[in-house]
Parts: sequence; C-alpha cells; structure tokens
Amino acid sequence: MAVRFRKSIREIKFLDPTKGFEENRVKFEFRIDPLTRRRTRIMDLKFRLPAPPDLGELINTSTKGRCPFCGDNLEKMTPKFPPNFIPEGRLQVGEAMVFPNFMPYDQNNAVAVFSKEHFIGLTQFSEELLVNAFLSSQSFFERVYKANPKHKYFSLNWNYMPSSGASLIHPHLHLMADKTPSDYHKLILKRGKRFWKKFKVNYWADLIDEEKKLEERFLGETGSVCWLLNFAPKGMMFDVLGVFVEKTSFLGISRQDLSHFARGLQKIFLYLKKTNLISFNLTIFSGLSEKNYFWTHARLVPRFTIPPVGTSDIGFPGLLHDESLCIVRPEDVCQEMKPCF
Ligand SMILES: [Zn+2]
Repeated sequence: MAVRFRKSIREIKFLDPTKGFEENRVKFEFRIDPLTRRRTRIMDLKFRLPAPPDLGELINTSTKGRCPFCGDNLEKMTPKFPPNFIPEGRLQVGEAMVFPNFMPYDQNNAVAVFSKEHFIGLTQFSEELLVNAFLSSQSFFERVYKANPKHKYFSLNWNYMPSSGASLIHPHLHLMADKTPSDYHKLILKRGKRFWKKFKVNYWADLIDEEKKLEERFLGETGSVCWLLNFAPKGMMFDVLGVFVEKTSFLGISRQDLSHFARGLQKIFLYLKKTNLISFNLTIFSGLSEKNYFWTHARLVPRFTIPPVGTSDIGFPGLLHDESLCIVRPEDVCQEMKPCF
C-alpha cells in the first residue's frame, strides 16, 4: 500500500446553551487528500436536506427567454465550427449535438447538448442519452487532437441545474481541450506522475485496491468503471470518484466503457434524488495517451442551497482558503449510497 489516508481529530469544548450550559465536546477532522495533499475539514452534522420545491415554476421561468438549445433554435442560434476544422459545422451522435461555445474561455471550447428536451430530471437520463453525449464529446476531442496534438488536455464538465452554476436548465456539457490543463488538472497529473515514479504503481490502481480492502468508501463497479467516495471530499456533502480502470486518455475509452460509466451515473442520480439533491457538478479529467501514471476519472459533487434563506453550499473556506469544508462523513454517505450499486 502506497496510498496514505492521513487525518487528525480535534476536540473543542464549550458550554452548551441547549444543555443548560453544561460542558459539551465536539469533534471535527482534518483530512489530507492522498493525491493532492490538499486539506479538507470534516464535520459530522448528520445533515439532511428537506424535499426540494416543485421545479415546474423554475422550468417555466427558464423557457420564457428563448432557450438556444431547444428544438429548432439550436440550428438557428448556436455557432458552427469553421469548415477547415469540422466541415459538418457541428457534430451529432444520436440526439447529442456538439458546437462551439458562444462565449469561449478555452482554446477549444465546445458545448455538448444531450437532446432537444429542455429539462431532463435526474432519473430520466437514459443510458443512450448519456453515452451519446460522451461519444459526441469524444469525437470533438479526436478532431481537436488531429488538428493539433499539443491540445491534449481534455476535460468534460457538467453543471446540472442552477445551484451548480448552470445558466441554462437545458442539459449540456462544457468541453475543454487546450495545450495547458487547468490548475487542478495540472496538479493531479503532476502528483500522479510523482506517485508512479516513487511507488512504481498507478495511484488510482493502488487507491482502488486499498479502498476495496477497507470497505469504508468503496461503492462498487459498473463493468470497467470503479466507484468510491473520496476520502477528503471537495463538496460540502460528498464527492464521488468514478475511475475508468486502466484507461489513460479519454480518447481510448470505448463505447462499452461509456455505457458502464453511464450505468454508474444513473445509480448516483438515483441516490441524489432519494436524498433531495437536485443539482451537481461533474468533471471527467482525461489523462494522456500511453502515460500510465494517470487514469481518466470523474468527480461528481452535489450542489445545493439551504432553506429557508437559500444559503449557498460554497462559502469562504473553499473559495478563499482553497480548503473544503464537508459536513457529512464520506463513510456514512457510502453506507447509504451502496445499496444503489
Ligand atoms: Zn431548452
């Protein structure tokens, strides 16, 4: 075992007004991410979200402005790729459609729309819908890579519903491919390489082995994809890791692997729905072809606001201290989520 799960427990004493000002002791944990060495603080609040409000009103409001991805609007309102790059203008697989981002922030920045449907509920994503969106994204990355092999840092990014930062309800992915990765992507590539050099083993292989033995955070497998809860979560509630076993680049992932991945996502979506979570962020971080030190993997973090005043789940710790604050233990989430697998 090379992966190390380091944590320290702190105990705080105070006089508790809910117990007649008797002394109370409350514990929290510092955990160090085994790969990035970034710190997360974990509280054990047994937090539960109440049932979400009816989404009908939100969906109605979102269709008042013209949705550029709906029906025939897509053809008229979304950009096309230049003919010397993608002669077809847009890439289509089944209902999924890939086109350039109208407001780019990356060298090769595209949007992949899942279907013509404006709103798709968490448990309404079929395997085919998910797989086609991922396949069309892969097709875009293939074109980018063919045009310039230096643009090899790929990621698929998904803001689902407004709490996660999505400005449009209509489900879509953001695709990024550049000659430089994002800061976090760069960090995990670097740490993965360092781990490989130091321990002569792939970090994700070692992590999966260890988590399987511990049975504390390992959720299960859907074919070639392994699922577990991250030891040091990024999200306030939890952080799921889905690993494409032995797959270095997203370009090398087969249709079958994507089906396996979609089946895992459906299980997580079911859990989100059961626990009143209606929004999430997801990123698939691609490794580099033939670089065995990094396996392509996804992270999914639920996003939410807390009633009654719509408190955000992101505050100063994550945004300004670059240190996550999680209010539920990953081991407890695992126990609850495991029956979905
Ligand atoms: Zn729409």
